[in-house]
Amino acid sequence: RGPSREELLEGLNEPQRAAVVHAGAPLLVVAGAGSGKTRVLTRRIAWLIQERQAHPGSILAITFTNKAAAEMKERVEDLVGKRARIMWVSTFHSACVRILRKEADKLGYKSSFSIYDAADQKRLMQLVCKDLDLDPKRYQPGALLHWVSNHKNELRDVDEVKKDAKNKLEETYAAVYELYQRRLREANALDFDDLIMATVNLFQAYPEVRETYRRRFRHVLVDEYQDTNHAQYALIHQLCADPMEETGATDDGQRVEPAELMVVGDADQSIYAFRGANIRNILDFEQDFPNATSILLEQNYRSTQTILNAANAVIGNNKGRKPKRLWSDAGDGARIVGYVADDEHDEARFVSSTIDELVDEHGVRPADVAVFYRTNAQSRVFEEVFIRTGQPYKVVGGVRFYERREVRDALAYLRMLANPDDQVSLRRILNTPKRGIGDRAVECVTSLADRDRITFWDALRRADDAPGLATRSATNIRGFVAMVEELQSMVDAGERADVVLESVLARSGYIAELEDSDDPQDATRLENLAELVAVAREFSDDPVAGPSADPADVDAGTVAPGLRDFLERVALVADTDSIPQDDDGVVTLMTLHTAKGLEFPVVFLTGLEDGVFPHARALGDQPELEEERRLAYVGLTRARERLYISRAVVRSAWGAPSHNPGSRFLDELPVDLVDWKRTEAAQTSWSRPDLTGGNTRLGTPTAAGRRNFSSAAVRADAAAKSKPAREVPSLEPGDRVLHDSFGMGTVVALEGVAEKAVASIDFGSEGVKRLLLRYAPVEKL
Ligand code: ATP
Ligand code: MG
Repeated sequence: RGPSREELLEGLNEPQRAAVVHAGAPLLVVAGAGSGKTRVLTRRIAWLIQERQAHPGSILAITFTNKAAAEMKERVEDLVGKRARIMWVSTFHSACVRILRKEADKLGYKSSFSIYDAADQKRLMQLVCKDLDLDPKRYQPGALLHWVSNHKNELRDVDEVKKDAKNKLEETYAAVYELYQRRLREANALDFDDLIMATVNLFQAYPEVRETYRRRFRHVLVDEYQDTNHAQYALIHQLCADPMEETGATDDGQRVEPAELMVVGDADQSIYAFRGANIRNILDFEQDFPNATSILLEQNYRSTQTILNAANAVIGNNKGRKPKRLWSDAGDGARIVGYVADDEHDEARFVSSTIDELVDEHGVRPADVAVFYRTNAQSRVFEEVFIRTGQPYKVVGGVRFYERREVRDALAYLRMLANPDDQVSLRRILNTPKRGIGDRAVECVTSLADRDRITFWDALRRADDAPGLATRSATNIRGFVAMVEELQSMVDAGERADVVLESVLARSGYIAELEDSDDPQDATRLENLAELVAVAREFSDDPVAGPSADPADVDAGTVAPGLRDFLERVALVADTDSIPQDDDGVVTLMTLHTAKGLEFPVVFLTGLEDGVFPHARALGDQPELEEERRLAYVGLTRARERLYISRAVVRSAWGAPSHNPGSRFLDELPVDLVDWKRTEAAQTSWSRPDLTGGNTRLGTPTAAGRRNFSSAAVRADAAAKSKPAREVPSLEPGDRVLHDSFGMGTVVALEGVAEKAVASIDFGSEGVKRLLLRYAPVEKL
């Protein structure tokens, strides 16, 4: 039973086969884009199970996104059947969560710990800065978090950072790190970087625990190894290095043979240095793992030779890389098509009409098409034009569904129920919707918590003892505590996540408040909450579909998926996870970062302007410029058959139009590969785009609504239901708003009315912007 050797090796070339059947020493597969690294890794897992009788439970495979994990799992299951289900195929984060849930007590955490995402971290950091009395202008939470994150990725703990502080500033930073960690711990919470660092620390502090996992995972496989950071490297090393080589220890009979390790990657596709990824991990593999074998793949099976030549030419401009010759026998294929647009609207119209042409005349399906851009904010114009032309689309990333205020509120309720020590969540919803528990009351409760050294939640339960608390507030707090305890009893009874969520929304008065409001945005909020309930229901019905569900547990029927499982799933959903599958009629819009590992028959690479791509930040900085070039390489190599490149002569970022020169990456393309449909010279003049948005009226879209995890679908849905497509938010000076790319701001002034309304908004470090509200991606907070 199961596939034969031949079947497992079918459709693989010689070096690919060698990688699949390799046994023993650590194996590195380095190869350019589209050479079958992911395919080889997947086949190898099937091979291990089928031919080498590896127990599926002894396999740990690491992918870059949850979506990639789900796909890989599916492929392996297709090959060797259901028994493959119990293998661990997941991201580093998911794998660490699973380990930590079991071992949390050893690190002084409860296994119900929360996972703080970027927004939670920011709130917590704001609290920390307040506690330390830091000037918010000088110490920005975002910058502090980035700094903390870097240390964690390098596995530097608070003590070490404190010890190394060389001046006042560094001491302050160290104090921030210390308090931030203490607050996390008090909240029984870990941030994303902690997940990895805590697991590494766990293995270091408890060798016997590490040995348990070393014994368990006999095969470790890592995709996209070029984007691992030091902490992730250390984790792999702990699981796979040979301890004899490390310490020279003698065999005491207890020794576990190191696991077999295979990593695959491409140094030219390392694009996460800003998040601590270290290209050295792949370059130094042979030193890090002595007696390692490496295999080189050179044939590309994805793209035409024209596309490959273009990609090879661009990446060839990076210094200090190992040159590799990637070739394809797919033939030259079509030439690359270039287009110089007047402005970003013209660029989007070019993309839209070209898609129409491809669909009508070349049998291309919209789902075959992807549009890439450098930054999230660039999606807006494409969305506007696609809505107008009735081209269904989805945006991957952007302001994500899970970042919307109402969704975060609802999740804060759930998280607080699962883990009442989670202060950030508890404080977030304590007076949301308003229930007469104001800042004064919160201060009184906080002092009680500080005085008696109890958690904020315990202090709420004993609010009657809080000195100075007004009687009315005390009554309101009692009501709140009673409600929470009632909801908690549902959670303790193992109630389904969707049922708990519906009770929360009803009992808290959250839904009622939105229903009573006349703010049109609140109608959208209700839809988003309905969506969240649907997501929870889907999860409760089919937990195995969830990447973080442990099928071993589910199969055995031991653990019904409850609220905690749901929260974990939500916490780990990454951008790329929101790509709906099986959707034939929909074009995909995404940033270049999100495109990693994917492939599409038709690719539009847009916004090729110096200052946009490469990003303005990289223009004067060699290492950053090289990272941008790798990003270009990733973008170009996603295309299988047809590649379009475009730039706009003028681009306005919701305010002043700017005139950007063509991207230097365009100059790096061999001229004979590109067929320019329109060049800058062909343009007689360009007119400043009208700030009132003149040429981009939105019509009735035909967006195909499809329920899924992406904000885009929700956005497109909302747009389809209400006309005009974008409600103009009613704002007043002093209102706080959230902008998709500028972040939080305060309205300073308003001019014009209704569709012509223009607001001047102060975005702090981003400056004051004048925005046409009908089109600006702002949300009132
Ligand atoms: P990236 O660097 O972009 O992650 P990769 O090296 O992981 O790319 P894959 O995604 O595994 O490459 O493969 C690229 C494409 O080539 C896929 O469509 C895959 O199915 C196909 N492919 C890989 N190897 C072969 C082969 N030997 N014969 C035919 N097709 C192949
Ligand atoms: Mg791959």
